[in-house]
Amino acid sequence: MRRLIVHGGAGRIAPEHGAEALEGLSGALEAGWGEIDDATEAAVAAVRWMEDSGKFNCGRGAVLNLQGRAELDAALMTGRQQAGAVSNLTYTPKAIAVARKVMEETPHVLLCGRGADRFAKAMGFPRETIGTSARRKLYRELRSDLVNGRGGHGRWSDRKPSRHPAWWEPLKRLVHVHPELLHGTVGAVAVDARGRIAAATSTGGIFLKMEGRVSDSSLVGCGTYADRDVGLSATGIGEVIIRYTLTRSIAELYHLRHEGVQAAADRALATLPRDAVGVIALDRKGRFAVAKNTKNLAWATRSDGERSVRQGLS
Ligand code: ASP
Repeated sequence: MRRLIVHGGAGRIAPEHGAEALEGLSGALEAGWGEIDDATEAAVAAVRWMEDSGKFNCGRGAVLNLQGRAELDAALMTGRQQAGAVSNLTYTPKAIAVARKVMEETPHVLLCGRGADRFAKAMGFPRETIGTSARRKLYRELRSDLVNGRGGHGRWSDRKPSRHPAWWEPLKRLVHVHPELLHGTVGAVAVDARGRIAAATSTGGIFLKMEGRVSDSSLVGCGTYADRDVGLSATGIGEVIIRYTLTRSIAELYHLRHEGVQAAADRALATLPRDAVGVIALDRKGRFAVAKNTKNLAWATRSDGERSVRQGLS
């Protein structure tokens, strides 16, 4: 059974933004479903649509780092153990397409920073400015909160936050008080009629991240993973997802316990810090899972077997 599942990030989604997120996911599903004869094409098309929309924390709509610049991360992995990824890409918002080029045109898996930018240029992507005016406005507000010690529970006076060793704690507190800062990363997992699986994830990361920070989304086995039998895309606090190598751990549980993809995802999430992550997954037969320990996770799925799209914010 062919299936495509997409997510638009985990966190706390305000009711007024919920409808917009689901509408965006429907657009992505439609774009991906048009390519469902090939799982890789479908997953990439769905993510590309969300990157172009400017509505999610990826591609054109990416959040900004502490210096006010977007640095994009994305990864693509197929069930044939092929993978391509980029981290800290600034040259173009089309991060998933560049990740795919890394997979297809280089002997490497992950290109970072300047190397990723140069590679994107060499592959013919036009240079485009990343970052919407709404993102810039929020960036200014947040940065001012951060440097003035507001938004968290403590005061923090360092004027060069990116160099301060205590940078992460205040940011963690900020994100805890404003979990809405996190949501918006996107992902897609597809299985085609031949049982081929592909998983793709794309993100701008977390608002006010340190320059050069690498997210889980671009790391195989952390935010993005696929093998012959199962594909997964995660979202949430990247540092948690990386420490638990989340998607690979869920795949291991799936293989070892034979309880199905939903049980594997639930089991893995039960051991994680609360309010941190969400994940979508599917297996070769088109069975899917949606799991989260955040308040919301925006997702939508479509398959051959079902008449209509299934979607939710939970
Ligand atoms: N996982 C992403 C990151 O840490 C953020 C997200 O999923 O919203 O960069």
